[in-house]
Amino acid sequence: MKDKIIRFMRGRYGNDQLSGFLIWTGLIVMVLDAIIKTGILYGLGLVMVIYGYVRVFSKKYSLRSAQNKWFLEKTAGVRLYFKKLKKSKEAGKEYRIFICNKCDQLIRVPRGRGKIEIRCPKCGNKFIKKS
Ligand SMILES: [Zn+2]
Repeated sequence: MKDKIIRFMRGRYGNDQLSGFLIWTGLIVMVLDAIIKTGILYGLGLVMVIYGYVRVFSKKYSLRSAQNKWFLEKTAGVRLYFKKLKKSKEAGKEYRIFICNKCDQLIRVPRGRGKIEIRCPKCGNKFIKKS
Protein backbone atom coordinates (compact mmCIF):
# COMPACT_ATOMS: atom_id res chain seq x y z
CA MET A 1 0.00 0.00 0.00
CA LYS A 2 2.78 2.40 0.97
CA ASP A 3 4.68 1.54 -2.22
CA LYS A 4 1.56 2.25 -4.25
CA ILE A 5 1.24 5.70 -2.71
CA ILE A 6 4.91 6.45 -3.29
CA ARG A 7 4.64 5.29 -6.92
CA PHE A 8 1.46 7.34 -7.36
CA MET A 9 3.08 10.51 -5.96
CA ARG A 10 6.26 10.17 -8.01
CA GLY A 11 6.69 13.11 -10.36
CA ARG A 12 3.72 14.90 -8.88
CA TYR A 13 3.90 18.41 -7.55
CA GLY A 14 2.78 17.73 -3.97
CA ASN A 15 1.50 20.14 -1.37
CA ASP A 16 2.38 23.82 -1.16
CA GLN A 17 1.04 26.93 0.55
CA LEU A 18 -1.54 27.70 -2.16
CA SER A 19 -2.97 24.15 -2.13
CA GLY A 20 -3.04 24.19 1.67
CA PHE A 21 -4.86 27.51 1.58
CA LEU A 22 -7.39 26.29 -1.03
CA ILE A 23 -8.14 23.03 0.79
CA TRP A 24 -8.46 24.57 4.26
CA THR A 25 -10.43 27.62 3.13
CA GLY A 26 -12.66 25.35 1.03
CA LEU A 27 -13.35 23.10 4.02
CA ILE A 28 -14.10 26.09 6.27
CA VAL A 29 -16.46 27.55 3.64
CA MET A 30 -18.25 24.16 3.36
CA VAL A 31 -18.65 23.93 7.15
CA LEU A 32 -19.88 27.52 7.17
CA ASP A 33 -22.51 26.61 4.57
CA ALA A 34 -23.69 23.72 6.76
CA ILE A 35 -24.65 26.45 9.27
CA ILE A 36 -26.04 29.20 7.05
CA LYS A 37 -27.22 26.87 4.22
CA THR A 38 -26.80 28.93 1.07
CA GLY A 39 -25.81 25.99 -1.12
CA ILE A 40 -23.67 28.36 -3.17
CA LEU A 41 -20.91 28.49 -0.58
CA TYR A 42 -20.89 24.69 -0.40
CA GLY A 43 -20.27 24.47 -4.13
CA LEU A 44 -17.58 27.12 -3.94
CA GLY A 45 -15.88 25.34 -1.05
CA LEU A 46 -16.03 22.03 -2.88
CA VAL A 47 -14.46 23.58 -6.00
CA MET A 48 -11.68 25.06 -3.85
CA VAL A 49 -10.95 21.70 -2.16
CA ILE A 50 -11.00 19.80 -5.48
CA TYR A 51 -8.76 22.37 -7.18
CA GLY A 52 -6.41 22.22 -4.17
CA TYR A 53 -6.06 18.45 -4.64
CA VAL A 54 -5.75 18.78 -8.42
CA ARG A 55 -2.74 21.01 -7.73
CA VAL A 56 -1.24 18.52 -5.23
CA PHE A 57 -1.47 15.63 -7.75
CA SER A 58 -0.53 17.73 -10.75
CA LYS A 59 2.51 16.91 -12.84
CA LYS A 60 2.86 20.43 -14.24
CA TYR A 61 5.59 21.35 -11.82
CA SER A 62 6.66 24.74 -13.23
CA LEU A 63 3.08 25.98 -13.63
CA ARG A 64 2.19 24.99 -10.05
CA SER A 65 5.28 26.54 -8.59
CA ALA A 66 4.63 29.76 -10.56
CA GLN A 67 1.06 29.83 -9.18
CA ASN A 68 2.34 29.31 -5.66
CA LYS A 69 4.91 32.08 -6.11
CA TRP A 70 2.13 34.40 -7.30
CA PHE A 71 0.02 33.43 -4.28
CA LEU A 72 2.88 34.07 -1.86
CA GLU A 73 3.56 37.47 -3.44
CA LYS A 74 -0.12 38.49 -3.28
CA THR A 75 -0.47 37.44 0.36
CA ALA A 76 2.93 38.71 1.56
CA GLY A 77 1.35 41.73 3.27
CA VAL A 78 -1.30 39.68 5.07
CA ARG A 79 1.19 37.03 6.19
CA LEU A 80 3.58 39.70 7.44
CA TYR A 81 0.74 41.29 9.41
CA PHE A 82 -0.07 38.00 11.20
CA LYS A 83 3.61 37.31 11.78
CA LYS A 84 4.01 40.71 13.42
CA LEU A 85 0.83 40.19 15.44
CA LYS A 86 2.16 36.89 16.77
CA LYS A 87 5.51 38.43 17.54
CA SER A 88 3.99 41.37 19.40
CA LYS A 89 1.83 38.97 21.42
CA GLU A 90 4.91 36.99 22.40
CA ALA A 91 6.76 40.19 23.22
CA GLY A 92 3.83 41.26 25.42
CA LYS A 93 4.52 38.36 27.74
CA GLU A 94 8.19 39.22 28.12
CA TYR A 95 8.07 43.01 28.17
CA ARG A 96 6.10 45.88 29.62
CA ILE A 97 5.65 49.09 27.75
CA PHE A 98 5.87 52.38 29.58
CA ILE A 99 5.32 55.88 28.28
CA CYS A 100 7.76 58.60 29.24
CA ASN A 101 5.76 61.29 31.04
CA LYS A 102 7.92 64.04 29.58
CA CYS A 103 8.20 63.23 25.88
CA ASP A 104 5.65 60.38 25.36
CA GLN A 105 8.39 58.03 24.10
CA LEU A 106 7.40 54.34 24.34
CA ILE A 107 9.90 52.39 26.43
CA ARG A 108 10.06 48.60 26.46
CA VAL A 109 11.23 47.00 29.70
CA PRO A 110 11.68 43.28 30.53
CA ARG A 111 9.02 41.94 32.88
CA GLY A 112 9.52 40.56 36.37
CA ARG A 113 12.49 42.67 37.50
CA GLY A 114 10.62 44.27 40.39
CA LYS A 115 10.82 48.02 40.94
CA ILE A 116 13.33 49.51 38.55
CA GLU A 117 14.50 52.92 37.52
CA ILE A 118 13.71 53.54 33.88
CA ARG A 119 15.67 56.10 31.94
CA CYS A 120 14.03 57.46 28.84
CA PRO A 121 16.45 56.93 25.91
CA LYS A 122 15.07 59.97 24.13
CA CYS A 123 14.99 62.75 26.73
CA GLY A 124 16.88 61.22 29.66
CA ASN A 125 13.91 61.54 32.04
CA LYS A 126 14.12 59.03 34.89
CA PHE A 127 11.20 57.38 36.68
CA ILE A 128 10.63 54.36 38.89
CA LYS A 129 8.12 51.67 37.89
CA LYS A 130 7.31 48.10 38.76
CA SER A 131 8.25 45.89 35.80
ZN1 LIG B 1 11.33 60.95 27.49
